[in-house]
Amino acid sequence: MENHYRAEPYKIKMVEPIRLIPREERIKRIIEAGYNPFSLRAEDVYIDLLTDSGTGAMSDTQWAGLMIGDEAYAGSRSFYHLERVVQELFGYRYVIPTHQGRGAEQVLFPLLLHTPGQIAIGNMHFDTTKAHIELARGCALNFVVEEAFDTDSLYPFKGDFDLQKLKTYLDATPREQIGFILITITCNSAGGQPVSMANIRAVSKMARERGLPLFFDAARFAENAYFIKQREAGYADKSTEEIVREMFSYGDGLTMSAKKDGLVNMGGMIALKEDENLYRRIQAMVVPYEGFPTYGGLAGRDMEALARGLREVIEEAYLAHRMGQVERLGRWLDEAGIPIQKPVGGHAVFVDAKKFLPHIPFDQFPAHALAVELYVEAGVRGVEVGSFLLGRDPETGKNLQSPVEFLRLTIPRRVYTDNHLRVVADALISIYKRREQISGVRFTYEPDILRHFTARLEPVSGDAFPGEETNE
Ligand SMILES: *Cc1c(COP(=O)(O)O)cnc(C)c1O
Repeated sequence: MENHYRAEPYKIKMVEPIRLIPREERIKRIIEAGYNPFSLRAEDVYIDLLTDSGTGAMSDTQWAGLMIGDEAYAGSRSFYHLERVVQELFGYRYVIPTHQGRGAEQVLFPLLLHTPGQIAIGNMHFDTTKAHIELARGCALNFVVEEAFDTDSLYPFKGDFDLQKLKTYLDATPREQIGFILITITCNSAGGQPVSMANIRAVSKMARERGLPLFFDAARFAENAYFIKQREAGYADKSTEEIVREMFSYGDGLTMSAKKDGLVNMGGMIALKEDENLYRRIQAMVVPYEGFPTYGGLAGRDMEALARGLREVIEEAYLAHRMGQVERLGRWLDEAGIPIQKPVGGHAVFVDAKKFLPHIPFDQFPAHALAVELYVEAGVRGVEVGSFLLGRDPETGKNLQSPVEFLRLTIPRRVYTDNHLRVVADALISIYKRREQISGVRFTYEPDILRHFTARLEPVSGDAFPGEETNE
């Protein structure tokens, strides 16, 4: 069975039509969008790989749950269902729902960062996480292994902490200068790369020895658990549920964006293992920011769907297919010679645009140019993760150079079939054959902050979109 092709472990009961608009129209739309895929209307996109956040498909069981969600303001039955599932899965006693992941960060971090400038240590903090650490007047530091930045390295756990570097830092830094340690699983910013159980255990030991709180940023906890099962010695015969339980046993609590492995379109939470005092303080803070502690910004029906999603996401047939699908897209590209981050992460394939388009300098944003080209080629929307996203140095005003120039192809959960991904692969392969003809881009409008969302651009030179009519 292992060597056989693994089809979707579900059949399709409801469909949503998607449409490929003609190439001429795609060119018109991307020009109107200022050569920025963020500004496209979703209905003009054929296959949307912008993000895996809140874009997944719910199951029939989850949809059924919506109908019996309990909308009581206080003490909703659906809250108690969610609480029970979280207690069973993670072994954490206290559960506080929030409207999404950043809501959890906004409530929790000010309670963990006591004095201005305190450090929040991470493998690699996600961008809203870093923003909320800084809004709480803390300072975010990353300790991810060097291998995370080497796309050719086949290191199996590129989300790991560099333990030597972490130990040296902890030994040299007074305890009171550090607020907490946060382990992001999987490490989103490093390309959905997993953290090993051995690494979690070692970081936990260092935290314990120094009395430091240890939290998880748990958005993709199930994908991380499945990587451990596949790659780490001693875990092949354990169930993902057992692995999840062990991972979280090493920490004091979690924040979660449920829009990823919660298999819902909106939602999040904070959970704590046993710290009742911190729980009381979170309850007091969650009321003004998110809502009463038994709903925290979610409808009762949302909590019901999330309770069910958390159980479905750890099913091994689901994870084997999900992660097999992402891996398969990576393999198709790799076999065609297209440079990608390897091994492929859990939720996305990252195309290495620095190698794909070596003639485009970093400040003409090669990965963004590739995203524009991919939309025109096949109506596929990916997203740049590189120097365009990074922005400018606030002091000098110069464009910062990112260590990586990635085009991220993020795969929504249970939404697209392999046939859709074949279209994506074929489009990139045909672009690769004429890559020398692709031009970089430059700004026609550049906002001061978070420029990637609303910037407008134009090709630097020549004949934009030289490709052939291949998809109609
Ligand atoms: C998505 C995400 C967040 C933020 O969650 P939202 O639900 O988008 O607010 C935080 N951390 C990680 C690792 C994420 O992937």
